[in-house]
Amino acid sequence: DRMNLNMTGFPTSGKSTRAGQLHTYLSERIKNSTPSDAAPKYRIHLISDQTLSISRSVYDLSALPAHTRSANASEKDARAAIYGAVKRVLSDRDIVILDGLNYIKGWRYQLFCESKAVRTPSCILQIGCSKEKSREVNEARLSSEAVGAQDARKLGNDADDVEGAYDPANWENLVFRYEEPNPMSRWDSPLFTLIWEDGEQQTRQVFDNLWEAVAGETRKDVKPNQ
Ligand code: ADP
Repeated sequence: DRMNLNMTGFPTSGKSTRAGQLHTYLSERIKNSTPSDAAPKYRIHLISDQTLSISRSVYDLSALPAHTRSANASEKDARAAIYGAVKRVLSDRDIVILDGLNYIKGWRYQLFCESKAVRTPSCILQIGCSKEKSREVNEARLSSEAVGAQDARKLGNDADDVEGAYDPANWENLVFRYEEPNPMSRWDSPLFTLIWEDGEQQTRQVFDNLWEAVAGETRKDVKPNQ
């Protein structure tokens, strides 16, 4: 079976951190359930803006077309790239962790439909973090990057692509546009949540529940066109 695990959350709310933890958790689980002489049953793919070299600036509505640097430079193009990457690895034995904002309801619906079309269980892992805390993280990143960014520009690199901070106006706008997942809608369920404060034990519990829902004995089988 394949699986599609989609993250969602504010910018700089800790999504990549949790995606990394989920990756580690799944790797261990798969390793422990695989006989030592057999090939692992699953391959895990971590897909994110970073892995696809999508700049934070694609989300910036105030960015003028004049700033467009590549075919990737709009959010629509970015979504198409992500969609393509997800579809490409959605074969049997694949687990996809999609680490991204995934903040648009219609986009989550699109991901859900794609999974369903290929009978793939999917779920949403929401990273809960207050606006204030996430903003603080972004601001800390901006200031720690200030020095590094100068160096990057001297070398002719785009500072946005090198580091993970968002322009403050871009950040505020993304939080404003964020569409909360709703566990009552098919495309946002099953929905799991981790908050910033959740420690090792709670995190493991949530990952166990998530695994049970998408891969366990009790999971609901996915039927297309239901
Ligand atoms: P995002 O992927 O949403 O942009 P990151 O996972 O990169 O966010 O996290 C941003 C920063 O916050 C990183 O420096 C990370 O180490 C820290 N961080 C993330 N989640 C937690 C957490 N639950 N507890 C403490 N620090 C965290």
